[in-house]
Amino acid sequence: MTDGRHGDGSLGDRSLGDGRHGDGSLGDAVLAVDIGGTKTAVALLDGEHAVLAMAQAPTPGADGPDAIIGTVVALAQQVVERAPGARVVATGVGTAGTVDVDRGAIVWATETLADWAGTPLAASLRSRLAPLVGDAPVQVQNDVDAHALGELRRGAAAGARSALMVAVGTGIGASVIVDGRVLRGHRHVAGAFAHVPVGAAGLRCTCGRVGHLEAIGGGLGLHRHYLALGGDRSVADARGVAGRAPHDPIARRAVADSAAAVGRAIAGAATLLDPELVVLSGGVVAAGAVWWAPMESALRTELIEVLHDLPVVAGSLGGAAPLHGAAAAAWEMVGA
Ligand SMILES: [Zn+2]
Repeated sequence: MTDGRHGDGSLGDRSLGDGRHGDGSLGDAVLAVDIGGTKTAVALLDGEHAVLAMAQAPTPGADGPDAIIGTVVALAQQVVERAPGARVVATGVGTAGTVDVDRGAIVWATETLADWAGTPLAASLRSRLAPLVGDAPVQVQNDVDAHALGELRRGAAAGARSALMVAVGTGIGASVIVDGRVLRGHRHVAGAFAHVPVGAAGLRCTCGRVGHLEAIGGGLGLHRHYLALGGDRSVADARGVAGRAPHDPIARRAVADSAAAVGRAIAGAATLLDPELVVLSGGVVAAGAVWWAPMESALRTELIEVLHDLPVVAGSLGGAAPLHGAAAAAWEMVGA
C-alpha cells in the first residue's frame, strides 16, 4: 500500500496537463481493476494493451465497501505513480457480485464481500479517484464477465462472435458472449452458472438451496463432496483432493463426480446457446487431466451430433483475463 505521496510531482503535472510530455510520454492509458473475494488487483494499460504497471493486495472483504474502495484507490495510486507520462482516460472494473452495468452498482453479492450489495461502485470510485485521474469515467461489470471479455478480446476466444466462458475456482461462474458482447440479462444475472439446478443430492449451495451446480462443481463443493464420501479430513481443499486423485480412490471419485457435474451443466448451456466455443478457466480447471477428462467425457456424452465439433478449450490469459476485460470495457467507454 502507498501513502499517496507523489514523489516527483509528475502526478500533478499529468492530472492538470494534457498528458503529452516531450520527455517520453506514454500517452493515453486506462486503469483496470479486478475485485475478487480474496484479492484485489489494479493495472495500468496503454492503448496497445501492454501492462505498464500492476499492484495487488488482499481484498478487505469483511470490512465493508469503504475499505474495499480504499484498497482500489491506494493500488491505483501505486500504478499511476509507476508510469509517469501516462494519462488515465477511463477506469474499468470487474468485481465479484451481480452488477447493474448501466448504473455501475452492485445488485447482489455473497457474504464474502460484506454489505457489497447496494454499493454505487462506479459513482464512488469516480469520486474517490478524481484527485488522481480527474473526471475519467468508470465502467463496472461482474468479474466473470470481465474475464470472458478479456479472453474474447485478447485470449482464447479472440475473433469469436459467441462463446460460453466458465470459471471454476472456489465457486463457479460463467459468462455468455452473444454477437461479440457480454449477455447481461434482464435482471443482471445472466451467466450465474453457480445456481443452475443439477440435482446434486444433499449438497447445499452457497445460496442456501440444495442441488445447485456450485454445491458440487466449485472447488469448495468438490472438497466437501470428498469429505462426505469419507475422504481424509486432513486434506484442506480442492487442490489437495486433486493432488491425491492418482493414489486415493475417494479423491479420484470426488474429482470425477465434480467435474462430470460441470461437464453436464456445460452440455446443457451449450445446447441452449450453441456457442462458437467454450472456454474454461480457474484454479480447479488448472488441476489438469484428472479434472478435465471426466468433465469432457460427461460433456461429450450429452451433446447431440450437430454439437460434436464444439471446441472446449482452456483460457489463455489465466488470472490476468479480468484485468484485460476491464481494460477493454474502459477503452470502449471512451470510444477507443
Ligand atoms: Zn445456489
